[in-house]
Amino acid sequence: MTQKKNIAIMGAGLVGSLLSLYLAKRGYTINLYERRPDMRINSIDGGRSINLALSDRGWRALRGIGIEEEVRKVAVPMYRRVMHDEKGNLTYQPYGKEGQAIYSVSRGGLNVALMNISEPNPNISYHFNRQVMDVNVRTSEVLLQNHTTHEQERIKPDLIFGADGAYSMVRGAMQKTELFDYEQKYLEYGYKELTIPPAEDGGWLLEKNALHIWPRGNYMMIALPNIDGSFTCTLFFPYEGTRSFATIKNDNDLLNFFVEVFPDAVPLMPDLAQEYFANPIGSLVTIKCFPWSYDGRLMLIGDACHAVVPFYGQGMNAGFEDITVLDQMLETFDGDWHSLFKTFERKRKPDADAIADLAVLNFEEMRDKVADPRFLLRKKIESKISEQYPDKWIPLYTMVTFTDLPYSYAMEAGMMQEKIMKKVMKHIESAEDYEKPEVQKLLQKQLVKKEKLKPYKG
Ligand code: FAD
Repeated sequence: MTQKKNIAIMGAGLVGSLLSLYLAKRGYTINLYERRPDMRINSIDGGRSINLALSDRGWRALRGIGIEEEVRKVAVPMYRRVMHDEKGNLTYQPYGKEGQAIYSVSRGGLNVALMNISEPNPNISYHFNRQVMDVNVRTSEVLLQNHTTHEQERIKPDLIFGADGAYSMVRGAMQKTELFDYEQKYLEYGYKELTIPPAEDGGWLLEKNALHIWPRGNYMMIALPNIDGSFTCTLFFPYEGTRSFATIKNDNDLLNFFVEVFPDAVPLMPDLAQEYFANPIGSLVTIKCFPWSYDGRLMLIGDACHAVVPFYGQGMNAGFEDITVLDQMLETFDGDWHSLFKTFERKRKPDADAIADLAVLNFEEMRDKVADPRFLLRKKIESKISEQYPDKWIPLYTMVTFTDLPYSYAMEAGMMQEKIMKKVMKHIESAEDYEKPEVQKLLQKQLVKKEKLKPYKG
């Protein structure tokens, strides 16, 4: 089998940069081509601090290359959800067991860290201001636009990874090939990023170690902490309708709306109007496609082949998990890229589809259900079940966020558990009812049925 040495990664975002480290570790020569300028010189967020929730699958990939501790230094643990109601009252919901947390990290900061870690490696070279314009998948020739010289360049690597995100040009080229399935679905919601700045003493104006949610039925705002004391807030809002981006036209509309629905947040957002009208509305898209590879010479990875909406906080985590799985396969396939790519895409596709669907479902939970006391009671009962039967029951959120069980298995087990919870909750009015003999008996009976889904053995 011929080993392919010269690998080009299109897109030096989170997944592309991490992938370069894993491949270089195995002795490959890596060239990364990135459309944007070097973000270590030119801030890409226009000064805004966009953050992401990093959880176990992402940590595992960072650990696998020995950079977990470095990233932990700039990550803020979030141990629970804090829900803010329309009067500013707070309710709480832990994310997992005691000590379990998801971590808020700056997207730009993490990307910069990955670049800083990978660039000194003599086998890794970054080429900024290079935009992929076209890929000839049959000849592996890539046409790049150099935004510095305004010239076009052509390269012909042995192997191409398309890590160029949700609007991937590499995937665009594959779409022109036969039997390529492609599906994209937008939500009727967009998002806008806003800021709660640090307190005067540099501290946090809301509880620091939490993800804050203002759930309001068909829309919501969330806030994640940053290490500098600020919070990045994201308003998820319909494009159209009585309460929507379309109806907020000026400062008055905005302030009236915010004071009515997010009253406790308004005094913490001194630049609200300026930011709201300056910042763009982002769209929320799910992208599914197949196959992810072409002829053992080209492979899509990360958002390029499975973009998901952000409501499970798993897009980047799933992209990082791609790398963990790929790395395990590199061990097994030893240079047989054709078989590796085919095996990889077959294994990952059901998991990518599952997390895409779960993420859409979780939007409803976050914007609406978390405000419902009955839902919070249900969550309490579920954690009691999981404590009593740790081998038989792991809550869906825990499986997705705090384990490396395949997303597809988590979804299937989660759906079974959902059915059981519906039956159990018919007998529950308060947390104490969990001890009632009829509840315990019902649960045992249902758990026997659930045994049909075999525990995942890997
Ligand atoms: P990207 O990060 O999009 O990187 C692609 C790179 O390719 C970019 O650098 C881009 O400039 C470059 N590029 C694009 N086109 C070209 C081209 N033609 N030529 C050369 N270069 C190109 N995920 C989580 O895990 N947790 C979260 O909490 C979370 N929150 C999110 C919140 C929001 C609002 C959004 C929109 C997403 C969120 N995500 C989250 C998802 C996460 O951002 C993505 O899954 C992740 O960034 C995907 O990484 P990637 O490297 O595949 O793609």
